Amino acid sequence: MNTDWTKIRGDFPILSRSVNGKPLAYFDSANTAQKPSAVIDAVDAFYREHNANISRAVHTLGMEATEAFEAARQKLARFINVRPDELVLTSGTTQAINLVAYSYALPRLKAGDVILLSRMEHHANIVPWQLIAERTGAEIRVAEINVAGEIDLPALWQAMTQDVKILGITHVSNVLGTVNPIEQICREARKRKIATVIDGSQALPHRKVDVAAIGCDFYVFTGHKMCGPTGTGGLWAKREHLEAMPPFFGGGEMIKEVRFEKTVFNDPPHKFEAGTPNIAGVIGLGAAVDYLEAIGMENIQQREQALLTYATHALKQIEGLRIFGEASEKAAVISFQVEGAHSHDLATLLDLEGIAVRSGQHCAHPLMEFFGVAATCRASFAFYNTEREIDALVAAIHKVRKLLG
Ligand code: PLP
Repeated sequence: MNTDWTKIRGDFPILSRSVNGKPLAYFDSANTAQKPSAVIDAVDAFYREHNANISRAVHTLGMEATEAFEAARQKLARFINVRPDELVLTSGTTQAINLVAYSYALPRLKAGDVILLSRMEHHANIVPWQLIAERTGAEIRVAEINVAGEIDLPALWQAMTQDVKILGITHVSNVLGTVNPIEQICREARKRKIATVIDGSQALPHRKVDVAAIGCDFYVFTGHKMCGPTGTGGLWAKREHLEAMPPFFGGGEMIKEVRFEKTVFNDPPHKFEAGTPNIAGVIGLGAAVDYLEAIGMENIQQREQALLTYATHALKQIEGLRIFGEASEKAAVISFQVEGAHSHDLATLLDLEGIAVRSGQHCAHPLMEFFGVAATCRASFAFYNTEREIDALVAAIHKVRKLLG
């Protein structure tokens, strides 16, 4: 397929604006991705033409809203190759991991059990487990990485002892870009009867993901990083887990029958979807799936790999620039520091040039500790970025270096 990336870039209205008098170069897609008109229009059309609550009303608008919401679930399920009735819609990854932590882990774990987490986890895949560990007496164990930013596999196998009940690991690192060999890891965990919780937040936007083929127990993701609206996302879990897990939240939508003596819960996935969800957002996420599929995830991955190669080469020419994370399989994320420039200062000065990069510890404090740094700058790329924008980033860093002497 001969993809017209210039035309595709034109689908994103925000990318034609300027910032501080300069054309915007948005390199913060790992934080949140920009939205194409197709997604913005889907949300707009819902509120203009179909707005009603779902699963409650028999009137036309109520039925249209419910149909559109459930159609989005079907699209998402197909996108990641799972059954729609095993896909719980959440407000994002954070809610999805908390759901697993409180509904699956809390009733099962006891003192002496171990929750194994990788060094490169986002805080969303650390803090909920610490809260569960505190309540159950379970311990947290860390699976370490090497200096390239890859999971140390022999050490991981060793860490998978009999007392490990849960392994939480990211599919793709939001800081290093490392793509973990998640199928292999899940296979080893299965042999040892360890439940796997895979954080797919940074994988789904950038590559074709077949959750069924991964062989995990839980797979979580967030919609806003894959061109969808904020406050959307999901949890896929094996049906047997969803059947056995108690609800996390109680309320409307998640019940079949409520009496003061006893409530009968709805079937999964609705059992975990109490209250009115982000209906417009989920419909927008469905539109995002359509949009990404129309371009093709293989094309997206190829384009982003080309941008990553181009940017890595260009950044490496800059004296005093250090890149964190050089895994052999890597998504289009580059964390870096420039000698003599504090990351926040650098990001602020780049912003003056219209260039948006993130600075800080990227919700991955333990990873920063590993590298012995307080913060880095992170340029994260998406298929809508261009080589010219990367040239502008490189030129701006040179300018900042001169400025800081
Ligand atoms: N996990 C990873 C790897 C992330 O990059 C992020 C977002 O930065 C999250 C989890 C949290 O996602 P959300 O804030 O959408 O729940």
